[in-house]
Amino acid sequence: MNLQQAAFSRRNFLKGAGAAAFATSFSTWFALRPVMAQDGTPASGVTAFARFNVGALQVTVIQDAVFPLETSILGANATVDDINAVLAANNQPVTGAVNATVNPVLVNTGSELILIDSGNGADAGGSLNNTLALLGVTPDSINRVVISHFHPDHINGLLAGGAAAFPNATIHFPQAEWDFMQATPADSPAAGLVTAATAALQPYLDADQVSYYAPEGEILPGIVAVPAPGHTPGHTAIRLESEGESVLNLIDTALSAVISLSRPDWYAAFDAVPELAAETRLALLTSAAADGARVMGYHFPFPGVGYVVAEDDAFSFVPAT
Ligand SMILES: [Zn+2]
Repeated sequence: MNLQQAAFSRRNFLKGAGAAAFATSFSTWFALRPVMAQDGTPASGVTAFARFNVGALQVTVIQDAVFPLETSILGANATVDDINAVLAANNQPVTGAVNATVNPVLVNTGSELILIDSGNGADAGGSLNNTLALLGVTPDSINRVVISHFHPDHINGLLAGGAAAFPNATIHFPQAEWDFMQATPADSPAAGLVTAATAALQPYLDADQVSYYAPEGEILPGIVAVPAPGHTPGHTAIRLESEGESVLNLIDTALSAVISLSRPDWYAAFDAVPELAAETRLALLTSAAADGARVMGYHFPFPGVGYVVAEDDAFSFVPAT
């Protein structure tokens, strides 16, 4: 167990004692102030959150869910033996699956509360809304939700009980993804996902609360679209930047901190355009390693914040501490 994963009781967190003690033990250069709330009552759906600053932005990673991700999905063009060899070489259990998390992000700009992706949704057991409540954030206080792509673990949280989970929020959605959805024929294998994603957007479409963003450039002040096509046609990585600091949220460019970084050339079964996804993965990992950029992964082990290190023709992920 490392420092980030040390669990505070909810009571201690609410007193603020834990957060204050921790804040002093991290460098000012990377002011990660992790606080994890575990109240021991899983039925509450409350799991964990970690908070750090990017310049003037307060960034809170929230663990919405943990699920077993079959390793065969992470190497669709690899053999089981090769996948298992990568796991073993990285001291990971070879069980046919890795634990993946779902890590949406809350950004407090000082004037607005903005979510980056919305998780699986409370209707599917997602913890985001319960954890937001613990943080004192009500659903109607969320001003905006930036969606990276149309997959259910990113968009289904827009709904709660079939209605808008964040009734006052404007949804920022990738234009390229929307165009792809509109062009998907009813008999396409992706049609079911498109129908579900459209349903998640529907209350916001009805209320004229959807805004479409370009593949590259600023979506909102400090929130920047980085083109990352392949996982889906309009899949977008999101860079948060403020006062000379940044964090690049890779979203699903790399699904596993171990397998996707050890073998960026391996296709993921979830990648809609696998060759393009692998190209994007290699490009973003190469530049993140060269720049020493702080990154995060939506499915990396919670909180999934750290750095990419280049090793020959592969990479490794070093969690921030
Ligand atoms: Zn995902």
